[in-house]
Amino acid sequence: MAFDSLELTPELLRAVVDEGYTEPTPVQAQAIPLVLAGRDVMAQAQTGTGKTAAFTLPILQRLQPLASSSPSPARHPLRALVLVPTRELAVQVYDSAKTYGKYLPLRSAVVYGGVDMDAQIKELHAGVEFLVATPGRLLDHAQNKTVNLSRVEILVLDEADRMLDMGFMPDIKRILGLLPPLRQNLLFSATFSDDIKRLADQILRQPVKVEVARKNAPAELINHVVHRVSRDRKRSALVRMLRAKDLKQVLVFVATKQGAGRLARELVREGIEATAIHGDKTQPEREKALNEFKENKVRVLVATDVAARGLDIEDLPHVVNFELPNTPEDYVHRIGRTGRAGKSGDATSLVSDDEMDRLRDIEKLLKFRISVEPLPGGDLEAPARETEARERRQAPRERRGRREEGRSPAPPSAASAKAPRRDPIFDQPYEPTGAADEVEEAPLPGEQAATPVARRHSLGGRRHREVPALFLVPPTRRKQG
Ligand code: AMP
Repeated sequence: MAFDSLELTPELLRAVVDEGYTEPTPVQAQAIPLVLAGRDVMAQAQTGTGKTAAFTLPILQRLQPLASSSPSPARHPLRALVLVPTRELAVQVYDSAKTYGKYLPLRSAVVYGGVDMDAQIKELHAGVEFLVATPGRLLDHAQNKTVNLSRVEILVLDEADRMLDMGFMPDIKRILGLLPPLRQNLLFSATFSDDIKRLADQILRQPVKVEVARKNAPAELINHVVHRVSRDRKRSALVRMLRAKDLKQVLVFVATKQGAGRLARELVREGIEATAIHGDKTQPEREKALNEFKENKVRVLVATDVAARGLDIEDLPHVVNFELPNTPEDYVHRIGRTGRAGKSGDATSLVSDDEMDRLRDIEKLLKFRISVEPLPGGDLEAPARETEARERRQAPRERRGRREEGRSPAPPSAASAKAPRRDPIFDQPYEPTGAADEVEEAPLPGEQAATPVARRHSLGGRRHREVPALFLVPPTRRKQG
């Protein structure tokens, strides 16, 4: 199918051709005509399927007759609102709107938390027809009356499953209360869980369901591999893997923000250029990290699930799961970073004994078994020895060692022996602050008491940093503001 058959306007077609797209992806082929026809749509599609263009192109087309070249803000009321869970995805969708709408006199803007509101207010005041927003920051603007939602005609909930996971439901409900009741609604979600179906029932009117297999179905283009490694040996295993295969541009997923920063520092100590991206980094820091990674200035980007959402890194060849995610759906999200646009990719998971149940759940979702292969350059240890390693961990002195260093109590490898011993609190390298946009991730077992917890809260638009404390803080879910 060619793009011309979708009846897009010449201005949009030209922009699509500029991007080098020759034909629509399945979600685009199905959703674009429905959105153009004014239907509500519930689409199951994840990052990597071309979903952003699937809603952005027809929305821009629907707004095109209303476009005005007048400089007056009154001639540019907000007509299309796209809600997204993270600032990275917000920027990505906004960039797409700019790209696809470059031949149209429509204005678009993006608002997300963690940055000053003034520049956003200025843009909103000037008038925008297409706004991409994270829910918390949009509500801040609504409260300050710096955005007017009363003329919104089209609402998009992008990555709706992730928004629910991140606890945005109350914010979404408040936003819905500020929108005109008569409007077109589009919901995009990687999964159709019961919660998503309930949300769809509340919001969508006689929606048409669009379900597409990934353009690059995991089984076809992505080479999934598991290496069985004890938790204690994962860092050494990762280093060995990176060196043995001489991997470049590797996105490594970890479970916690603290773990992300620590692993990146440890890799740097091993002589491997690495940087971390997580919600405790300021927006400029995250962008810098991402750009360095994209430009191949760093080999490894260590990321948490939430921070990595919406990252659009083309042709990313390698994704490594340093820890398996909590839900099988997150595995699919993670590997959505590789094997894009028909390119092949590697998804390698370092799996310890305690993660085998998670692995089985992932395989159930994928509907195939992932092959277990020896670590390149030879296994660090046989899986059977992990029990022994775990028993060794029980020794109090060694347990303390693990808490402090986050590495094996077993005899140190040549690499780890190089690392100086560090005090668990006072030698912790300073991590720059910024507004968090992600759930407070659960630290690994044994890390809670030893890790200073510096959290930022968005209270009435002002951010506060708590004094690092030694108290054990239970993981809580927080959302972006
Ligand atoms: P998305 O799923 O919206 O995050 O898009 C993933 C990637 O696919 C982005 O880099 C898009 O630029 C690209 N893309 C979107 N539509 C097409 C298409 N029809 N042909 C080729 N690439 C596309």
